[in-house]
Amino acid sequence: MCGVFGVFGVDYAERYAFYGIYALQHRGQESVGIAVSDFETIREVKKVGLVLEAIRREDLEKISGYSAIAHVRYSTAGDPGGINSQPLLRNTRFGRVAVVHNGNLVNYLPLRAELEHKGVNFMHTSDTELFLALLDDGELIPDGIDLHPSDERILPGVFYTMSRVKGAYSLIYLFKDRLVAVRDPMGFRPLLMGRFKDAVLFASESCAFDILQAELWREVKPGEVVVVDSQGIRSYFPFKSQRKAMCIFELVYFSKPESFVFENWVYKARKRMGELLAYEDDLVMDIVVPVPDSGLVPAIGYAQAKGLPLELGIIRNHYVGRSFIEPTQELRDIKVLMKLNPNKAVLEGKKVVVIDDSLVRGTTSKKIVGMLKRAGAKEVHMRISSPPVIGPCYYGIDTPTRDELIANRMELEDIRKFIGADSLKYLSLESLRTVVDSPQDFCDACFSNNYPLEVEGTALRIR
Ligand code: AMP
Repeated sequence: MCGVFGVFGVDYAERYAFYGIYALQHRGQESVGIAVSDFETIREVKKVGLVLEAIRREDLEKISGYSAIAHVRYSTAGDPGGINSQPLLRNTRFGRVAVVHNGNLVNYLPLRAELEHKGVNFMHTSDTELFLALLDDGELIPDGIDLHPSDERILPGVFYTMSRVKGAYSLIYLFKDRLVAVRDPMGFRPLLMGRFKDAVLFASESCAFDILQAELWREVKPGEVVVVDSQGIRSYFPFKSQRKAMCIFELVYFSKPESFVFENWVYKARKRMGELLAYEDDLVMDIVVPVPDSGLVPAIGYAQAKGLPLELGIIRNHYVGRSFIEPTQELRDIKVLMKLNPNKAVLEGKKVVVIDDSLVRGTTSKKIVGMLKRAGAKEVHMRISSPPVIGPCYYGIDTPTRDELIANRMELEDIRKFIGADSLKYLSLESLRTVVDSPQDFCDACFSNNYPLEVEGTALRIR
């Protein structure tokens, strides 16, 4: 779970990167980094914390340039805040190169072991380092690929790297004189292109272009490599995959509602999930209450489809982070209460249907049902606008291990009792699949256990 951003072709690129990555803060709150090239050299700043708090004006003044990449990071294996934060930088045969990566490789450990055996040194414990180390390990020009003269030196190294790694990667390389954006052939994670005057932008989600008043141009397609330098923009498709595996959870929860990803408006997809949940349900209550913020959009769909009033029965305090990143259950419990407060004015004496986007460990739902009942709700019916989460993600979303997923440990009725609701219902997987035009091109392993790529060696899991 990370956000990436890139810009080429504008003075003060570091500032555009700062605002762009700020707009992607929801994709990672642990650390932030920006690397900038002024054609002579690449400089970077990396800090632990939120973008606005961590990066100071003086930091940006020290790294001014014409192209930049940036990253916000959730939690990955190994050291959470320090040495693994991105961009990662390495001296390669192409000089200094920086990279930002969103995703997770499934063959990290065997590949790293192979390179270490050859004497390659690794400074980090994250899979992202492979994208730099492999640049020096080989070259490949797949059949049928005609390289522009300006790409003849670097791209064979990038293609070779792609041929060796397996898994999810939406990434942006910063070379001194160019950006190279790459999306894995199965297209697990989103990556979008934008335009602003003469500058070209890349971002995990289109909401990063809005803040810059830039135009959303198009998606970087699964398997596509896009090069931007002073000679222009070039696109290559060195490897094709029969199977696409775009992450359905981006539409359920992860991406911001105003974003456009995987050729879908997130808001529309999420609202549709709420409508379908309503159609699958014969419940009629007094009010529909969203769990903010993630339940808001499906609750709008649900309430409109049912013709029921939507009321803000839970108010969110915006000055805390997400409840998921606390290490112990006790701390997670407290954090949920810090974040959400019941609104007695609308709850007292009411039969409430409460909507959230997903139920993972059950922590949030349990707290919410208790909170609504204590605030005077007569009945509380929990509705979840996605199916039960039964499989951990190996492709870059931070879901817990299999044992921690409540739907793996309990039957529906026991989960209902655990969270204390009067009834509990999830959206069916069949309905969720109808939300997108080509469900076969999506990965829904977290809901189906149908994994598009096997993990090789021990899984490097996020936490
Ligand atoms: P839980 O409390 O473990 O059942 O988590 C479900 C709640 O966390 C829901 O309100 C979701 O919006 C949110 N959520 C779901 N997946 C994640 C994730 N990977 N990271 C952070 N929050 C999440």
